[in-house]
Amino acid sequence: MPARKAPRQALVGVAAERFRQAQQELQGLDYFLKGTVLKRMMKCGHPQCGCHRDPAQRHGPYFEWTYKVNGKTVNVKLSPQAAPLYLAATKQNRKLKAVLARMERLSRTALARLAKQAENTD
Ligand SMILES: [Zn+2]
Repeated sequence: MPARKAPRQALVGVAAERFRQAQQELQGLDYFLKGTVLKRMMKCGHPQCGCHRDPAQRHGPYFEWTYKVNGKTVNVKLSPQAAPLYLAATKQNRKLKAVLARMERLSRTALARLAKQAENTD
């Protein structure tokens, strides 16, 4: 027997429809991470090395994932193999935040309508 969804008749209108679309976008999200992935070219410890004179001769790239915990920045070194995975995850996180913000706005609209409906049926 197929699971039946309870009808949410009160959730009508454009806001409700957009909210459902946003829910589907959430389901489509992949792993996500806050913070950013940085690509760095570094100078080494040898003063005679060309990297100290010429930025084009710096070593790397080295990858880092940085994020904040309680206002403090945390840096995590990433392998070249890990970097694209982490970068994709930070993009998913931005998408997640955008979808959540949209859902919050739609919720306000829908709730205001629901409240009015409830008040009018008293
Ligand atoms: Zn060097």
